[in-house]
Amino acid sequence: MSEKETTVDATDVGGSARGSGDSRIDTCDLVRDGLNSHLLRCFRCRSKILPQGKGTYMELDEPFSLVTFRQKDGETGESEEKLSQFYRVEDMFDFDNVSFTKTVGSVQFLACADCEIGPVGYFDRNKKKSFVALARVEHYLPSR
Ligand SMILES: [Zn+2]
Repeated sequence: MSEKETTVDATDVGGSARGSGDSRIDTCDLVRDGLNSHLLRCFRCRSKILPQGKGTYMELDEPFSLVTFRQKDGETGESEEKLSQFYRVEDMFDFDNVSFTKTVGSVQFLACADCEIGPVGYFDRNKKKSFVALARVEHYLPSR
């Protein structure tokens, strides 16, 4: 079986996003048929967060501001990071492991269920969908 896939992103690549400190994640290897081809797991404790193929890759038109990972011992001075690359998860039950943390407006933040590092994404209470930030999880390919 020959499987040839031409990626369409050749049009807007070109590394023209100069100047902005925007570190876009290259999704070539991470996304297949629009879905996460890797298992998503926690950066810190390696706990599984989302199985392969359960998240639909998307880029937000308007980046979402997500506070950076909380430091241990409640260091204040939270900073935010604007992220636009997410996996949309249709059903909360698709997650292997995730915990809900604080709610701000219509958004509830998601964290690792085991070590509680977060936020790794958010749950939109209006849309009833979860969004996991690519930059906040580790992509892992289980060996077969
Ligand atoms: Zn964890």
